[in-house]
Amino acid sequence: MQISEIYKSLQGESTYAGLACVFVRLTACNLRCSWCDSEFSFYGGKKMPLQEVLGEVARLSPSGGLVEITGGEPMLQEREVIPLMEQLLDADYQVLLETSGERVLSRVPKQVIKIVDVKCPHSGAADTFAIENLKALQRHDELKFVLTDRTDYEFARDFVAEHELAGRVHAILFSPAFEKAASGTRDTSHCQLDPQQLAEWILEDNVPARLSLQIHKLIWDPAAKGV
Ligand code: SF4
Repeated sequence: MQISEIYKSLQGESTYAGLACVFVRLTACNLRCSWCDSEFSFYGGKKMPLQEVLGEVARLSPSGGLVEITGGEPMLQEREVIPLMEQLLDADYQVLLETSGERVLSRVPKQVIKIVDVKCPHSGAADTFAIENLKALQRHDELKFVLTDRTDYEFARDFVAEHELAGRVHAILFSPAFEKAASGTRDTSHCQLDPQQLAEWILEDNVPARLSLQIHKLIWDPAAKGV
């Protein structure tokens, strides 16, 4: 499979934020989100056979733990990435799959924890969510909405209500988009939507969502790669 990078860091998003994690980032994406922070993964990387990927994961985390399969969009390489997930599970890793929600997810192994985006109106990839993926969701999965403004927030709030998602998944994440060119200071001034404003909207509307900040951008320089 075509791999952009494999590295160990702290998980920055989702309910697993703060935990040590090996990231396996696959090359290529078919979407172009306006706030994408991994454009470097669209092209290039290195062709690696499955055993080499497993070996690198084992080198970075020899005694199990958390592994996230991410991208780009990892499900573009479904034929290779599903056996990778199966083998990681067999080796007792806890496997997260970070995906755009545009690819059909029904063939993902059930033990994998899917963190699935639903792209909002101002993402640059609106209306790409494969609605049949709602049926593939399990209680341990998480849904993520990245928000730039009130329009995105209202879309996310109404999507959650319309599809009765409260209680269907482990977490519904509302995450302010980060400025793509952010660097230097490590604070929430780089958020396109002020987290305080978002918190107030969530409380006003009683939305069953978890406000989620990308903590890796508050720990390291927001422009840092491989963290
Ligand atoms: S789906 Fe993910 S990798 Fe692809 S453009 Fe959007 S944010 Fe970037």
